[in-house]
Amino acid sequence: MLAVRSVRIFAVSLALAWPSGSVTAQQRFVVRDVRVFDGERTLQHRSVLVDSGRIVRIGPAHMPTQGAAEIDGRNRTLLPGLIDSHVHVADSAESALRQALVFGVTTVLDMFSGGERFERIKRIRAADPPDMADVRSAGVGATAPGGHPTQMGGPTLPTLSTPEEAAAFVAARVDGGSDYIKIIRDDLSWMGKPVPTLDSVTIAALVREAHARGKLALAHIATERDARLVLGAGVDGLAHLFVGDTASRDFGAFVARHHAFVIPTLVTFAWSCGRLHAAQLAADPDIDPYLSETWRRSLTMTAKWPSRKPACAGTDNALRQLVAAHVPILAGTDAPIPGTTYGASLHAELAEYVRDGMTPTQALTTATLAPARVFHLNDRGAIRPGLRADLMLVEGDPTRNIHATRRIIAVWKRGVRATRNSTSR
Ligand SMILES: [Zn+2]
Repeated sequence: MLAVRSVRIFAVSLALAWPSGSVTAQQRFVVRDVRVFDGERTLQHRSVLVDSGRIVRIGPAHMPTQGAAEIDGRNRTLLPGLIDSHVHVADSAESALRQALVFGVTTVLDMFSGGERFERIKRIRAADPPDMADVRSAGVGATAPGGHPTQMGGPTLPTLSTPEEAAAFVAARVDGGSDYIKIIRDDLSWMGKPVPTLDSVTIAALVREAHARGKLALAHIATERDARLVLGAGVDGLAHLFVGDTASRDFGAFVARHHAFVIPTLVTFAWSCGRLHAAQLAADPDIDPYLSETWRRSLTMTAKWPSRKPACAGTDNALRQLVAAHVPILAGTDAPIPGTTYGASLHAELAEYVRDGMTPTQALTTATLAPARVFHLNDRGAIRPGLRADLMLVEGDPTRNIHATRRIIAVWKRGVRATRNSTSR
């Protein structure tokens, strides 16, 4: 983790620079007498003043706020805008990022993009427009020739197969604008269709090179065995948990010992195990009117699985162990893989965490302060003076009932209120 710490200094200086995109509607407003979830704690009867895209002050319910537009916060909760730590921004990046924002997800972390798609993501990242979620990206992930996900088609992307190639591979990613390094360790044998994958020596070399350049390295895995292999090779975190009937009893302790974080993406697994009902999420009156037609399809789509569907009992057990071992958990969805969609599925992911034993407050931290800390997004993920006014106001109290995150009253990105109506359909 030493290498990770050295990154922080440089991330802070980046965070201090205001993004280059121009902010429209420099509003001054106060959310009055509201419950505040600040990223880790809950404060009652507070007022939060926003000006010029930043949180300015958090004070008592009746604090004077001259000239500020008033927003009623009574019986409501104000939260930091949510962060989805695992998505794949589609070719139609704008519509994907718009839908994410409508559901209160103000930042997404893209976990594999190449070619024109990555160029488009970088343009959006630079502009940081007020009507789309902000985005960071791994760019092209490290995989073996013919390895996952190249078997799914798409443009020809750089690959590697030996540790000697790691330095040039990582240098090219960093020079090309990758925010972190994604590594794929998955031979898909669990799906019955084996493909080549990277060996542990090559993964260790990639991690070393990433850290030498001040970048986090995280890995896609699909089995516990591969999770242990990549953690042994030094990765900072897992981009997924694994599927299966069981998890070893010491899995949580093993991850904790390696000081790694985990992005479980339970919604990607749970639906395949017949537990999460994507169709119900799509029919939820707090979700349904705000889904675009395109992204509703990814939610209600079902994928073809090999004859034996993967089981989830081991996945749940692994998550419970990780929580008990105080491993940082970051909420992620893997949207838009079948059964998930941008924005909406993150609310389902948080409910899964509570079902697996987290308190609602712990679950909310996985989508706010925890990812901001891990990914050095030091200007967001919390409600504190000076931070970006990326905010979500909901009806009720999600720190007691996690399902209240879906009852969205308003979303702001950099203090600009998102248009939330059914017109996206
Ligand atoms: Zn993914």
